[in-house]
Amino acid sequence: MKRDYDLTTLAARAGEEARPEGNVPLVEPLYQSTVYAFPDLDALERTMSGEESGSFYYRNGTPNAATLERALAGLEGTDAALVAASGMAAISAALLGTLQSGDHVVADARVYGVTYALLAEELPRLGITTTFVDACDPGEVEAAFRPETRVLHVESLTNPLMTVPDVPRLAALAHARGALLSVDNTFASPAVFRPALHGADLVTHSVSKYLSGHSAAFGGVVCGQADLISSARTRLTRLGGTMGAFDAWMTMQGLKTLGLRMRAHSGNAQAVADVLANHPRVRAVYHPGLSDHPQFHRAMELYPQGFGGMLSADIEDAPAFVRALAGRIPLAPSLADVVTTLSWPWGTSHRALPEAERRRLGITPNLLRLSVGIEDIGDLLGDLEGALEVGGE
Ligand code: PLP
Repeated sequence: MKRDYDLTTLAARAGEEARPEGNVPLVEPLYQSTVYAFPDLDALERTMSGEESGSFYYRNGTPNAATLERALAGLEGTDAALVAASGMAAISAALLGTLQSGDHVVADARVYGVTYALLAEELPRLGITTTFVDACDPGEVEAAFRPETRVLHVESLTNPLMTVPDVPRLAALAHARGALLSVDNTFASPAVFRPALHGADLVTHSVSKYLSGHSAAFGGVVCGQADLISSARTRLTRLGGTMGAFDAWMTMQGLKTLGLRMRAHSGNAQAVADVLANHPRVRAVYHPGLSDHPQFHRAMELYPQGFGGMLSADIEDAPAFVRALAGRIPLAPSLADVVTTLSWPWGTSHRALPEAERRRLGITPNLLRLSVGIEDIGDLLGDLEGALEVGGE
């Protein structure tokens, strides 16, 4: 497929090349088989030696996973991709594929809580240590580098306050020190930001978010150069973190509307941010498209097509607001569904942080994170404004 098609086209047509010539199903079949049969020993040898591509055993990969990998590598603009059972399996494989005992990582302190725990509690057991920094402060990032630093890991848009690290500058900084830049692109999706085009070496996602888009398929992906992905694949296969064929197949169906969905998510989230920012019951709104956002200018430069559907708001009497929305906007601790959902960082994603640290970061008990969906914007604003009329301190 032509690389210069718009992402909307690339996503809609993703997987086409897996379709053989002739009278065949338009949608790739689901290959729900744990093993493959071979006509003779020579054919088995050709597959096992890698001379011929093809599946042989589920843990090593399925045709549906291979199709999704090609599609996601294409959308992120990388040579290759590896899909995994979850976002955490993908991040683990990406890091274990490049790190050895004695190596050091620099990571944004705002990364997803389980990524933080992986870096702070699991990798040290293998002799790999991490220094946590504010990735929006390049001086602090630079000062944290050591001769043994191999990876700088950040998120393109952070949870829940939507900070925007300077990925091109961080890539240059990492490369100058002989390290790789790894970017978790879950909140953005390749429809609004492609980290590899700005110098990132590894790009990861929790696939159950924007890539699949309907909270029905689960998985992860790491995209990057073929050698990095090959090493990550060996680690993942040995650790057993394979993505299920059905999840890969479901993700392919969701992926086809990625471009359209992200346009709707981005437009709706901007409109919601603008309205909330001017409401007397709202104390603060965190969205990169608001002119008082600390990285507003950088965000406008790096994300010309919008920022996806995520924002957070500090709302007076948040419990009453959540109750008033019940039945219309569900409280659900995930994100990126086509319907708008709410989550509560204080009690879920950031629960493990000490209270003082949560407050220092701006995560208060009244902070709600909104994953803005693709509903009609008039209906959505009506629901939100109606709920803001109820309660209040
Ligand atoms: N990265 C980010 C930014 C996330 O929000 C999540 C999960 O919410 C993960 C990684 C982990 O992904 P998973 O839950 O698929 O393991």
